[in-house]
Formats: sequence, structure tokens, C-alpha cells
Amino acid sequence: MSEPLVFEKSAVGRRAVTLPDCDVPERSPEELLGPGAIRETLPLPEISELELVRHFTRLSHRNYAIDLGFYPLGSCTMKYNPKVHESIARMPGWIGIHPLQPDETAQGALELIHRTERMLAEIAGMEAVSLQPAAGAHGELLSMMMLRAYHRHRGEPERRTILVPESAHGTNPASAARCGFEVRSIPAGDDGLTDVNALKRALGDGVAGLMLTNPNTLGLFERNVEEICSLVHAAGGLMYCDGANMNAIVGVARPGDMGFDVMHFNLHKTFSTPHGGGGPGCGAIAVGKELEPFLPVPRVEAHGDDRYVLDCDRPLSVGRVHSFHGAFLVAVRAYAYILSLGAAGLRDVAETAVLNANYVRSQLRERYDIPYDRTCMHEVVVSASRQKAQAGVRALDISKRLMDYGFHPPTNYFPLVVPEALMIEPTETETKETLDAFCDAMTAIASECDAEPETVKAAPHSTVVSRLDETAAVKQLNVRWAGSA
Ligand SMILES: *Cc1c(COP(=O)(O)O)cnc(C)c1O
Repeated sequence: MSEPLVFEKSAVGRRAVTLPDCDVPERSPEELLGPGAIRETLPLPEISELELVRHFTRLSHRNYAIDLGFYPLGSCTMKYNPKVHESIARMPGWIGIHPLQPDETAQGALELIHRTERMLAEIAGMEAVSLQPAAGAHGELLSMMMLRAYHRHRGEPERRTILVPESAHGTNPASAARCGFEVRSIPAGDDGLTDVNALKRALGDGVAGLMLTNPNTLGLFERNVEEICSLVHAAGGLMYCDGANMNAIVGVARPGDMGFDVMHFNLHKTFSTPHGGGGPGCGAIAVGKELEPFLPVPRVEAHGDDRYVLDCDRPLSVGRVHSFHGAFLVAVRAYAYILSLGAAGLRDVAETAVLNANYVRSQLRERYDIPYDRTCMHEVVVSASRQKAQAGVRALDISKRLMDYGFHPPTNYFPLVVPEALMIEPTETETKETLDAFCDAMTAIASECDAEPETVKAAPHSTVVSRLDETAAVKQLNVRWAGSA
């Protein structure tokens, strides 16, 4: 494992496969494709099969993954997704289907979409669901498009302001602004929750709606949610729920019952599609009755018990927001996941996620500041302010040091209202032993901050590369193999 990474493995004449001699006349690329078709002969690596396998296996071990260890990246719900749902999503019947097939030949797929929508509507406590949005932020954008269409349809296009509490996820104001709304921020009170009096002052005829993240980005449940909903409704606005944090309340509480008119799910957080790595996702939205006519087309309609058709004849629809039916296989995983857990199992997910976060909170509170130290939901936000003041060690340093202990770092410097924030989301899928090992590492690092702060500041010490220029790594990503000279 500690062998240095020698990228160049090629040696002239080596082969990973040997094919039998050709038994038809060989033809050159020029003969097949015409003169000038080959502009350059690529310097392809020549390598044995074993060296090839070792190369990629070794590379894969240099990355961190939920399948290797604890991944408490707050707000991202990096939980373990049972492998059986991957097998189900790869079944030939799902992957061999073409989205342009006639409806009669794709009845099973349409039925799955319909059933998944019905189950998510039940979980949301709402009327109808669309699986088209490709991500959480896309679901937010679609929700804003529907709000705009709703107010225009009612002859109130002058409603152009969306209220966004400080405790909302950062994508919320961006989605509203992208949709042409003016965004007005509502401050949080000392308790970390939306300040209801500030909200009252901000309400007026120009308000189209409010976007509430619940549980909010501090991992706290917005206790005044019913009052907030009735205030906004009384002012003629609609209530949007950022439901990316549904892992905390799934099966326990329903946004529809709290008074929300529209919400998005992150199927790639809560419902068994892996999150991260740029894979396909789904930011399914759920709506109440009044927004249902504005849902994207086509809708999958059930005719009787066993026939499913696509309905495009919906004059108030905001149109399409995705080709075909969205990321269909994400829906397959969600469907399998919901069925495998059942209602009681889903409730268990939320209860265990909340229990685990509060367990971590109780273990860390002695050595770290916890600015809003009360029962949290699925994640807990701790602060490295004490370590910064006493030893000049910052949240980022502690995160880097955690890598030496074998853990993925938590989210850093978010939410913005907490200085030196470390946002920890343990999820429901971890054992007590893992949580203990993580809390022990955090405690050990707190001691290191006192005794040998330079060790923490220079971490990580055990990785192939240490501190990177993270901005350059993102802006000038270079993963191209340039070949041997
Ligand atoms: C992850 C997240 C989002 C955005 O979801 P994407 O799929 O990354 O666009 C929105 N809100 C909250 C609270 C989230 O945690």
C-alpha cells in the first residue's frame, strides 16, 4: 500500500490481452476510413493485465469512500446505501428499455414511476409528485417556477419577493434569484431559528413565498413552522420546504401537515442513491392541490388498475425540466428502498439518525464549543472557536487531522452563522463503535491542539498528498493521462 505512485507503467511490447491471429484479410484504418482519417497515432500504454488491474485498484484505494469508513459530511447525508438496490437498478428490464418506446411496451416502468410518486406524496403529506428534477437545487428551481406561474395565473404577477431565512441552505436564495425573484433574507434569532417578528415585518403584498429549510442548516427543527406557514399564507404567499434534510424526519413528520405547499426531496441523500461523485440524482418535488396543475409534463396517469399513460395535455404546466422522465434508475432505487423498509423502517431511519447525532453532540460538548447546544436533529454543528483562540488551530486543521485518524472530515465553515463551524452528520447507518471511534479521535485532536498544535496545523501526515491548493484543483482540474514522452 505504501508503494509510491509511479504512474507510468508502460513497457514496449506488453499486452493485457492476446487475441488469436486474424482469419480475415487485415485492412488498415486508412483503407477502412479513407485517407487522412487518422491524424495522429496515440501513444497508448502497453501493459500486462495484472499490472493494469493493480494500477487501477491501487488508485481506487487512494480515494475515500463510505464503503471504507465514516463519512460525516454535514448536510450531505453520506449514508450507506444497501447494495441490493444497486442490483435492482441494474436489472436488464430497467436498463434495456428505451425512453421513446411506445407506452404500451413500457408499462412496468411507468407503473414504477407512478407508484414511487404516490409513495413520496404520502411521505410528504402532499397531493402529487414529479420525479423530473435532476438535483435538489433543480427541485428548488422548479418549485420557484411553479410559484411564479401560480401567482401569474391568479393575476398577481407583482408578487416578486421570496423570503429566505438565514438558516436556509445556500442553494435556496440562488434558486429564487435564478427564477427572477427578489430575495429578502430573514434573520435568525438567538435560538438559531427563524425570527418570527422579523418575518412579520417583512410580509406584504409583494411576497410570493418563503423558502424554509426544515430541519434548518444548524440541524435544528424550526419549531414555529406552523405559525410561519399561517403568517405567509395570510399574506398571500406560498410555503416551500427544502426537504433535503428529510433523513431527520422521514416517517415521523410530514411537511404537508406542517402547512407547506411544495417541497423537494433529495432522493440521492435520503432514498438510497449514493450522493457525491457527480452521479445522477433526483430532486423530486411534492406539491399540494393548488400547485398540482403547474407540475411539469408529461405526467404518468393510471387508467384503471393496470394501464399507465403519459398525459401532456396540461395547459397550466410549466413545461419540461428534464428530458424524458428524469433519472429513472434513481427512482428504481428509491422505490426498492421504500418498499424494503416499509413505514416503520422509514421512521426508524429518522429516529436513529437523530439519536446518533445527539450521541455525537453529547460526546463532543466537553472539548468543543457547541453554539446551539440543545437537542438537534440529524446533524450537529460544533465550533473550533476555542481551539482557534487558544492555539491558533482552525476548523480546517482539525478536519485535515481527522484524515490521519481515518475519517472523512465533516463539512467546514458552514453554516455561516457559526464561526469555525464543523457540521457533523453521522447518519443512521453507523454503529455505536464507529461513533465512539470518531468522538475519540475528535477528543484526541482537541488534546493535540493543547499539547502539539503544529501537528494539527500541518495535517494530514498520512495521505499520498498533503494540503492541496483546493481552488486550483477545482478550477484547473487535470485528470488527463498524457502518455509517455
Ligand atoms: C444537499 C442540499 C441541497 C441541494 O441538493 P443538490 O442535489 O446538491 O442540488 C439543498 N438543500 C439542502 C438542505 C441540502 O442539504
